[in-house]
Amino acid sequence: MNVADSQRVASALEHLGYHDTPRPDDADVIVLNTCVVRQSAEDKAYGRLSSLQPLKKKRPELVINLMGCLVGIKNGERLKARFPYVDVFSPPSDPGPLVAYLTQGQAQALELAETEQRHAWMDEDLILPASERGRLVSAHVPVVLGCSHACTYCIIPYRRGVEVSRPPEDIMAEARSLVAQGVKEITLLGQIVDRYGKDHPDYPTLAGLLVRLNGLDGLERIRFLTSHPNWMNDELLDAVAELPKVMPHIEVPIQAGDDAVLENMRRGYTAQQYRDLVTKIRARIPNVSIATDIIVGFCGETDEAFEHTYELLADLRLDVAHLARYSPREGTVSARRMPDDVPDAVKWDRFRRLEELQESIAAEIHARYLGGTTEVLFEEKVKHRWKGRTPTNKLVFVESDGDLRGKVLPVQITWTGPWSMQGRVVEPVLAER
Ligand code: SAH
Repeated sequence: MNVADSQRVASALEHLGYHDTPRPDDADVIVLNTCVVRQSAEDKAYGRLSSLQPLKKKRPELVINLMGCLVGIKNGERLKARFPYVDVFSPPSDPGPLVAYLTQGQAQALELAETEQRHAWMDEDLILPASERGRLVSAHVPVVLGCSHACTYCIIPYRRGVEVSRPPEDIMAEARSLVAQGVKEITLLGQIVDRYGKDHPDYPTLAGLLVRLNGLDGLERIRFLTSHPNWMNDELLDAVAELPKVMPHIEVPIQAGDDAVLENMRRGYTAQQYRDLVTKIRARIPNVSIATDIIVGFCGETDEAFEHTYELLADLRLDVAHLARYSPREGTVSARRMPDDVPDAVKWDRFRRLEELQESIAAEIHARYLGGTTEVLFEEKVKHRWKGRTPTNKLVFVESDGDLRGKVLPVQITWTGPWSMQGRVVEPVLAER
């Protein structure tokens, strides 16, 4: 979400005549886009912010814009007192205050920061900065802003505001513009992306949106994330199974495999319901890959409760597990009402156990690709190798002197590890080069 937001800010700045510089010392404007989903991210943001202070001292005309979840919605005034060297504060997904500051001055910027303008500024031309036009193969398009679910551990609803779906026409216009700028793959984003359209009677469902995007000429691949188990309905699974451009990859976090912990998290499902969902997804979408998120060491997570999560992960053999250690977040229900009672050393221990387990599962799943041929969309050259992804979102590296950027080519897999694979393009013309 932040990558998408940052691209749009960069593009908005270019429309005002700015261009990018490699070094902060050379910049007239510095935008720091921030994440606070865990304390570690927040600490990093503060670290980067204070590293900008000497620059501002040296060059008072430098404009510093603090953006994103550290700011949240309607916090401009409060933060100005705390960070006097920051000139502009912007909520997530909203370059409005920065643009107003640069074109109209401080007062307008503050006023804008106090209102919710999320994406209202967005113009379909203002998406990719020049440095990425014609180069970026895979782009993100936010379709649901904010979140209203309120999992007890999660700060996002407080910082990104209530759930709002963007109008389908805006999304389509943006997708068309991205494709015209060379993009081949679009990933639709939302905290609970499968709730797309639920706040608006006239909007299509996510499945309906996928149908429209599937008809877009020049677009090769469509993905979406993140799903919530309770909102993954049959219509959506059918759309993934049937629409050729929608890739067989689902990101559906479980967060914990123990019912008491799930209830404390207020996730709204049981471990068994999640298991049943995985069975259903696998039955409906052949060769699907499934990714999950897990938080270890949530309030009240006993050894036994953790074992339930471990067993679930060992049983389900999902493709990817994004792991996190519980981090209490200011203002959330868990931070206010539940003691953070799992010691750090225990959180780390549980984290490492899951990490090890998942590494072996991923290695085993990837080994099944060995010798087979799969379609890879190539994104960029990293050192001497081209980097691309399979439909199932596996990372593949290929050595080639050709220009593979943006191409979908059949690749035979020659090596696999837990995090990536290697292969060679089997298309004769390219194989010769
Ligand atoms: N809306 C998505 C993604 C939320 S943020 C979802 O609900 O799945 C990405 C991940 O960060 C979450 O899935 C969760 O695993 C993790 N996370 C969120 N809050 C956290 C916290 N307080 N401590 C540790 N991890 C957290």
